[in-house]
Amino acid sequence: MSSLIVTQLAAKPRKLIHRVYRSVFWVALSIYLMIHLGCKPRELVRPTPQIDAAQRYWVRVLLLNNITDCNVQTASYFNVINLDESLPLETSFSSLENPIRIKISAGKLTIAGRTFKSSKLLVYPNEPYIFSLNGSEYRGKLELIINPDGNTFDVINLVPLEPYLASVVGAEMPDYWEPEALKAQAIAARTYCLYIKNRFGTKRNWDVSKTQANQVYLGVKTESAPVWNAVNNTYGEVLTCRHPDGTEDIFPTYYSSVCGGHTENSKNVFGDSFGPLAGVACPYCKDTAKLTLFFWPMAQFAKSTVTTRLFQKYPQLKQLGKITDILPAEQSDYGTFSRLTKIKLVGSTGKSDFLRAEDLRLSIDPTGKQIQSTICQIKKWDDKWAFLAGRGWGHGVGMCQHGAQGMARQGKTAERILTYYYPGSKVVNIY
Ligand SMILES: [Zn+2]
Repeated sequence: MSSLIVTQLAAKPRKLIHRVYRSVFWVALSIYLMIHLGCKPRELVRPTPQIDAAQRYWVRVLLLNNITDCNVQTASYFNVINLDESLPLETSFSSLENPIRIKISAGKLTIAGRTFKSSKLLVYPNEPYIFSLNGSEYRGKLELIINPDGNTFDVINLVPLEPYLASVVGAEMPDYWEPEALKAQAIAARTYCLYIKNRFGTKRNWDVSKTQANQVYLGVKTESAPVWNAVNNTYGEVLTCRHPDGTEDIFPTYYSSVCGGHTENSKNVFGDSFGPLAGVACPYCKDTAKLTLFFWPMAQFAKSTVTTRLFQKYPQLKQLGKITDILPAEQSDYGTFSRLTKIKLVGSTGKSDFLRAEDLRLSIDPTGKQIQSTICQIKKWDDKWAFLAGRGWGHGVGMCQHGAQGMARQGKTAERILTYYYPGSKVVNIY
């Protein structure tokens, strides 16, 4: 009993000391937070570079198609320019804090209640050349084009190449990856974009889509300091190779997430043939990729689903009847494993047809998240098709992104990474 009282008496001053310490701690913490957080200036908006660049270095990204309305917001005033030359040039809109509505009615575009006669309009924001479309921020300008049906319109983002890349690199690769891997990604993305623009852009109102059908582009939200560093430190750099006619020019620098141990010849996946895209062994991605990305678990699809999805995408296959056999017709042998490249489909009518393995994979699983690659075996499994023993993620052509990270971790430069995955190519500066 008495020893307890002594203990309690002795505890009182200790409690007091604790209280004093606690008060001092909270006061100090409050002062620290006031200095470091309360007084912190707002982060400045990064300016949009290359706004005066030549037209050939601008990219037209299809953001929305066949829509009837959308919302746009800019920080300051913006101009609307008629792209039909016969009409008066432009209208200026003063600073508008709230989103303005753009819609089509009776075949005409209306912006914030003002109707325009032109079927093509250019929305041109002022500095820092950033606008928000349906809540997502983008850089550059916005083109609105009425479709031939007169009832819908397409929205296209006109953005200079370098800020376009800052978004793409941040969307295609984690920004905490090695700086040299990010630089390799920036050069590959810059080259790919220019190639697609020159090859297909002349035939349509836009150069690239915003999805992985080309390169993922999500606007300002995927930009970050490491990504901008990668873009700025490779400013204007592209990859070229020697073409059969002797000219030195850019080529489609495809890339994919995890090659699974060997990259694939572009001819077998996309049907185009370039020296640097013949395929190389990749010992790098196995140690970098998550186990479930490198060796993916078995995927199963009901036979009826497979038949339906293939018929939807390739109506000519209906003549086969129900798909009864999916057989490897061609494959790339990498030694201990192989990648299916061509598939023979046999139907209940006895007829057969062929598909590229990559087309079969993405028809059955458009997300590509279950059948992650064509390095796999296809087997009958009761009333299902099973995709087994899978390796890698993606089409496997060109640079292996996880492999690039693996090489960068070993101290390889961006140029070394690129010339490994695209042998025979070289880095040149075009600005
Ligand atoms: Zn790889």
